Amino acid sequence: MQDVFSVQGKRLLDRLAGQGGSLFAFDFDGTLARIVQDRHAAGLTEATREVLQALSVVAPTAVISGRSLADLGPRVKGISAHLIGNHGLEGLPASGRVMQQAEDCCRAWLKAVAKDHHALTRAGVVVEDKTYSLTFHYRQACSPSAAREAIFHAVSTLLPAPRLVMGKAVVNAIPSGNLHKGTAMLELMHQLQTSAALYVGDDDTDEDVFSLPDERIVSVRVGKKAATAAQWFLTRQSQIGQLLKYLIEARARAVSA
Ligand SMILES: [Mg+2]
Repeated sequence: MQDVFSVQGKRLLDRLAGQGGSLFAFDFDGTLARIVQDRHAAGLTEATREVLQALSVVAPTAVISGRSLADLGPRVKGISAHLIGNHGLEGLPASGRVMQQAEDCCRAWLKAVAKDHHALTRAGVVVEDKTYSLTFHYRQACSPSAAREAIFHAVSTLLPAPRLVMGKAVVNAIPSGNLHKGTAMLELMHQLQTSAALYVGDDDTDEDVFSLPDERIVSVRVGKKAATAAQWFLTRQSQIGQLLKYLIEARARAVSA
């Protein structure tokens, strides 16, 4: 893993920005927005909003989030980026049948989870219904391990068995299909007929993109970590504005050259 702001990293960013049509895609929480105690309060800083908007004007830009589109949309309002929600399930022309199956699946899970409602609440777990997937939040739990235990007990009863993806103080229960952030990224690249892309993310669901066996995608993880398939890292989330700014400037240099 190498620092994306190293000499080699910058060279790669220059090349990406130099090719017209490269796609620049970003996860939201922990990547574009700082992780906060109250997930409802997560948002872009004014500075990030400004550079993200500026980038989306000069290059195809996307935000690929685990949040539902209804939740994500208002947080990036006014930015002309492609929006994909629910870990890749929402925002692309998926078949109606697949979406309906995911929705039916979540309805059935919610009913089952309701039986564990008291145990989950006692453990400080909040269940979020995202229509096509469920997220169990425990950031505000007094005991994270007790909260995880309550969650695992609840999800172990779910049928059909969900795909579980851990995140930062969350457990995501996703209908086990073959749609995830990685497939969404490939589909978007296909639609935009792009031959190169950058993807920046910070969490386990982003590994679905990082681990794609696709050399066209440059993957950057926010935070250096040994167990990741990402090739590059950004040291801190607070550097995202600097990265966006670098891309805009590199694009401008390429255009004027
Ligand atoms: Mg994230």
